[in-house]
Amino acid sequence: MVNENTEEIEKAFLERERLDSLINSMTDGVIALDQDLKVVVYNGAALNILDLNGSIENKQIDNVLKPIDEGKHPVIVSEIIKNSPVGFETRDFSLVYDDGSHSAVYLSIAPVHNGYGKGGVEGYVLLLRDITHEKSLEEERSEFISVVSHELRTPVTIAEGSIGNAMYVVQKGAKPEIIIKALEAAHDQVLFLATMINDLSTLSRAERGKLTLEVETINVHRLLEELVASYKPAADAKHLTIDLEVDPRLETVQSSELYIREILQNFVTNAIKYTEEGGLTVSAQPGTNGVAISVHDTGIGISKKDQKKIFEKFFRSEDYRTRKNTGTGLGLYVTMKLIKIVKAELKVESELNQGSTFTVIFPNMGVPTP
Ligand code: ADP
Repeated sequence: MVNENTEEIEKAFLERERLDSLINSMTDGVIALDQDLKVVVYNGAALNILDLNGSIENKQIDNVLKPIDEGKHPVIVSEIIKNSPVGFETRDFSLVYDDGSHSAVYLSIAPVHNGYGKGGVEGYVLLLRDITHEKSLEEERSEFISVVSHELRTPVTIAEGSIGNAMYVVQKGAKPEIIIKALEAAHDQVLFLATMINDLSTLSRAERGKLTLEVETINVHRLLEELVASYKPAADAKHLTIDLEVDPRLETVQSSELYIREILQNFVTNAIKYTEEGGLTVSAQPGTNGVAISVHDTGIGISKKDQKKIFEKFFRSEDYRTRKNTGTGLGLYVTMKLIKIVKAELKVESELNQGSTFTVIFPNMGVPTP
């Protein structure tokens, strides 16, 4: 008899240990409550998410779990339990910590019935998960979609209006110049849409880590000569000079030619866009392990405040001289992604009304792919 009892106790003890280690190895916070809504079991993850370090056993749930809702109103968990006989689940609550920081949490509450549902409610089990990261990704994604659709709508509306106008003036037998002017306005907007779609597609590939890196030996002289030659017509059209200054000691660099070209093209396009007088200089010097390439312009410059933001998604300066040029505000954001892929360093020097210099130090990236 005594033996049987000891065995029973040992068995129960073992069961309890097994349960404890099971809930303690869960990454979600678990809190079990009795009928009076007092804590009977909890795990380390629960303490973590509640940011508590003492025992919470026997404490009333409203004294340990104090979430706020989306409107920042305090939520009384015991009220929710009373009003949700079949359980409750939400992703819209947050916890506020002593230092003022917030965590978005997933909370689920389920009643626990003894004897598989027969009889009354015996207690409750609460699951808690920190979903701050997921939430911020969701928010960023929905903000991105709303900004992109807004940015796409404007050129589509203008192009649609201009084509409608062209059709109208054709019917009225207008002069070809008037028709061409309306079509040119539509064409400009379609070109802008094409640039934007291009930027978006590079961006999406970069964000999904789909941009592969092919390291090759690049002749910097040739690369920069081609770059400057390809932008000469655009600079000439605005009566700007475009010069190339390459240190004669400079030879080659091992990196991705495709990405280096794309990075520099973005800087040169901007330099031409945001310069009304003078011109731009592309220069290159050998660095300790690679090459430093600068694009300097004598343009409108960038204020100190804006310099902190120009690499953000969709950022465009409020300066009217920026706004009179079309732009997506995505160019430098994408450029920054590419700069990271080729492990380059970037330096921006700029003064309002004096001009800007974007310098990128491209390191040798090791053995080129054959
Ligand atoms: P955008 O399509 O507007 O040119 P970017 O991401 O390429 O977008 O640049 C972001 C913003 O940075 C621009 O709108 C402009 O305000 C500023 N900027 C970038 N390059 C220059 C430059 N060379 N001179 C002056 N402002 C610049």
